[in-house]
Amino acid sequence: MKALIFKGKDKIEWTETMEPVIIEPTDIIVKIEGFTFSHADYRPYLGQDDSVAPDTIMGHEGVGVITAVGGSVINLQVGDRVAIGCIIHCNICQWCLRKAFAKCVNGGFILGTKINGTHAEFVRIPYGDNSVIKISSAMNLADALMLSDVLPTGYENVIKKVDFQNINNIAIIGDGPIGLGILLLINKYNKEVDVYGHHSKKLDYFEKLGAHKGYNSTKTSFDIKYDLVIECVGNDRGTFEQAQQMVNFNGTIITIGVFNKSVVFNLQQLWYQNITVHTGILNVYTLDELVAKIETKEISPMQLVTKAFNKNQVLQAYEAFMDKDMFKVMVKL
Ligand SMILES: [Zn+2]
Ligand SMILES: [Zn+2]
Repeated sequence: MKALIFKGKDKIEWTETMEPVIIEPTDIIVKIEGFTFSHADYRPYLGQDDSVAPDTIMGHEGVGVITAVGGSVINLQVGDRVAIGCIIHCNICQWCLRKAFAKCVNGGFILGTKINGTHAEFVRIPYGDNSVIKISSAMNLADALMLSDVLPTGYENVIKKVDFQNINNIAIIGDGPIGLGILLLINKYNKEVDVYGHHSKKLDYFEKLGAHKGYNSTKTSFDIKYDLVIECVGNDRGTFEQAQQMVNFNGTIITIGVFNKSVVFNLQQLWYQNITVHTGILNVYTLDELVAKIETKEISPMQLVTKAFNKNQVLQAYEAFMDKDMFKVMVKL
């Protein structure tokens, strides 16, 4: 089969490799129909994450059809179409029993990092019964691909943590796919949602999909106060401090961005503001709810996929995702 293989910093190849086989009785094999890229896929390539071994197949987002199941798989059959969750979980360890799947001692965020991932024609998924969700053959591929990571990230970190009754306005910091996914999930609450980013084309797209206003954060001061500030950038770009400037009295900061060094937390001011801060990795425990939202057309996450490529264009697709005007890039095999 063909797969996108990480070969070390600045080196990636779409090349022939061995097809995966069932190893554990809880495994399934999925023939990939399409996959998407994620910023996490680029950190090893850019030299920002040395925990991924060379020769690992990349990717943790994918949709496909099951071609083999291990002997103890109960709920899935060959031929089922599934969306793969980016968190593998066993459902029996101490953390899984608390629904903290990201910390699963037998899984967690391992696809494309510790084990071969979804950017391939076939992938082995451990604990198949728990780690994928069945979807109908009618579901649009681009909609289904957003179940792997983008939608549960926004749904679990924002919608599941906030009482929207006490919120009038919302700021999303970061004009990327995570922020856009959150906007699609928030739209039904009819709040005023402003977006702060650096890319005018992307900010326009946010406005088209329901945002009240897009602000170029390099040109604006942060005078408006928000009941909910959702930080989706991370690293050392000052966005966590920006969130602290923008949060209203009694407000909430949710920080989803991943940070690579320590950040300032102005507790000397914020103590008086009675704020709440949420942060953390997703657990992918809400896929059934998200499938229902897509099927009932409450959300249309395919709007996140702004470019599609075929199996002969995988490296072009990989490059395209680094373009600053891109949201999600899909490869259809
Ligand atoms: Zn991802
Ligand atoms: Zn577990």
